[in-house]
Amino acid sequence: MPRQPTRSRDETRLALVRRSRRINRELAALYPDAHCELDFTNPLELLVATILSAQCTDRRVNAVTPALFARYRTAEDYAAADRAELETMIQSTGFFRAKANNIMKLGHDLSERYGGEVPGRLKDLVTLPGVGRKTANVVLGNAFDVPGITVDTHFGRLARRFGWTDETDPVKVEKEIGELIPRKDWTMLSHRLIWHGRRICHSRRPACGACPIARLCPAFGEGPTDEATARKLVKTGPFS
Ligand code: SF4
Repeated sequence: MPRQPTRSRDETRLALVRRSRRINRELAALYPDAHCELDFTNPLELLVATILSAQCTDRRVNAVTPALFARYRTAEDYAAADRAELETMIQSTGFFRAKANNIMKLGHDLSERYGGEVPGRLKDLVTLPGVGRKTANVVLGNAFDVPGITVDTHFGRLARRFGWTDETDPVKVEKEIGELIPRKDWTMLSHRLIWHGRRICHSRRPACGACPIARLCPAFGEGPTDEATARKLVKTGPFS
């Protein structure tokens, strides 16, 4: 049984910063292989894959993208795509009409405004069709090595459970966590929280009794604390 966890409401700012960084270090040791689970070989591929991953698993996106990336190699290729053909290729990722629309417009905008290249700045990326801060930070962090915090559903939930923030607005969460964790760690921190969320700290029944960072977590007890029960909740993947 893990030790009694820290209670965040009694915590000083300094203690919060220290505990946040400790969690980051322990998650790093726990998930040394944490990485972006979308397959890509260049920024354009990652941008398209990230757009396709909305409301869809990374696994399903990875099943679709080899044929897609072979068929459309450049921004111009997407701009000139046959809509029906593109929709068919991405149909299994869901919301395929809206996604095809965004990807074609994206190809057009990249061709017209950025010489066919994906820009490496947040302020440019978020002006592109279908690209919000989350997508932009995924692309910056993983294709450009520019540190970015990706606040998806897992990240937001875990950050709140850790007592790092009370915010639910992703932009505010991103800002608050950015003040706790060193910038150089932002991209890997995002992967680590997402991995922990997928494997142990589930939305409905987190496996608290089997969680290696339980003693650092004020939300310990949100899921079963009995180790045998909790162990059964731990997922090893593949994730769907
Ligand atoms: S599984 Fe439980 S103890 Fe572990 S991080 Fe999630 S809420 Fe905290």
